[in-house]
Amino acid sequence: MAARVLGRRLLSGQLQRPQVPAGVSVRCLNLHESDSKQLLHNYDVAVQRFGVAHNAQEAKTVAEDLLSKHGAKQYVVKALVLTGGRGKGMLSSGMKGGVKVVDKVEEVEDVSSKMIGYKLVTKQTGEQGVDVSRVMVAEALDIMRETYFSIILDRGMGGPVMVGSPEGGMDIEWVAEHKPDQIFTLPIDIKEGPSKDKVLELAGNLGFEGELREQACHQMMQLYKLFLEKDATQVEINPLGQSPDRGVVCFDAKINFDDNASYRQKDMYALKDTAEDDPLEVRATDCGLNFIKMDGNIGCLVNGAGLAMATMDIVKLHGGDPANFLDVGGGVQEHQVTEAFNIISSDPKVKSILVNIFGGIVDCRHIANGIISACRQTGLKLPLVVRLAGTKSEEARQLLEESGLAITSAGDIQEAAIKAVASL
Ligand code: GDP
Ligand code: MG
Repeated sequence: MAARVLGRRLLSGQLQRPQVPAGVSVRCLNLHESDSKQLLHNYDVAVQRFGVAHNAQEAKTVAEDLLSKHGAKQYVVKALVLTGGRGKGMLSSGMKGGVKVVDKVEEVEDVSSKMIGYKLVTKQTGEQGVDVSRVMVAEALDIMRETYFSIILDRGMGGPVMVGSPEGGMDIEWVAEHKPDQIFTLPIDIKEGPSKDKVLELAGNLGFEGELREQACHQMMQLYKLFLEKDATQVEINPLGQSPDRGVVCFDAKINFDDNASYRQKDMYALKDTAEDDPLEVRATDCGLNFIKMDGNIGCLVNGAGLAMATMDIVKLHGGDPANFLDVGGGVQEHQVTEAFNIISSDPKVKSILVNIFGGIVDCRHIANGIISACRQTGLKLPLVVRLAGTKSEEARQLLEESGLAITSAGDIQEAAIKAVASL
């Protein structure tokens, strides 16, 4: 399942994550911690030495290497999944915690065997959890203090903002709500970049002093460079820790990227792992469709995100429950409509399908032909309500009529929603 974080807003000094309804995922590239840490390392940002293991034996070998080559004193084993809150998660093996600090190589093996092959449930995954197929094994370091640092794109401030707090390691929303004076923000002028003085001040606010303040400042500046050069929408380090031997170290890293920049961030996008995504959403993305699965039973096929939202609202208003959000976009082609139909109808929860198209750029005949071809391919048995308006809608309606398919036609969005709900 994709990360459930939509982005962030900073309101009068308070950090807030807009709530994404349960079951709605937001697609943007979200890297595994091992890939994020490698990227940080490439940008001269301090991270622990680590390796990735697919089974307990491999995990033990990574730990043995950390011991023999680098004199590791302790190890931290982390479930390599895209969700956050792993430390406080629960594994289906019965073990508590998807992040474990242990003393011995044998313990690394034992803990890994209780993570790999099991599901991890965290606050962000829902009850179903996510499969753990790999772990990251790193040299554990002592942490004297955990702070929070992130760079986000903020609409309110119209650009990137550095956010820091001396209260790290925990839920930052909790800190924002209960201790708003412990959240420090630094808006960055995207043309000028961050000023070193201001970033030093932020590092000071996070409680770093002397040489450590310089180190923290350097890492924050480097993280900003990464943020900009890699078209990130969010870089979050929680905790940005203070260790007695290594100074300032990024103990965790979550980086999200702007999908609109995927064409120039091919290296990053090659690291994409869709294993935790809904398979139908992955299929839709591959076909250029904007599809988000939900919990209801009326499958919706609409063009335009605004119309799709309005359709869902009106379905709700008339007592129905949408099974998905699906925006087929402006220049949609017949084969995409067919695929959209196949995707919607392959969800067993869907009991009725509602098509609501306003043909501005879209030629309604493409929609009609797509529907016809999908119905013929799959032998669709579900009730189907279609409302077509705009470009070539008359011709499209005629195509549907001549097809002989059992389609309920609707004149407007209201009527379409009422008929879809009645067809259940
Ligand atoms: P998250 O729970 O998914 O955010 O995973 P994190 O990587 O942030 O780990 C959770 C917590 O484990 C951190 O906040 C730390 O308190 C702890 N932790 C992680 N790595 C180390 C380490 O090397 N040494 C120590 N002592 N604690 C660690
Ligand atoms: Mg963390």
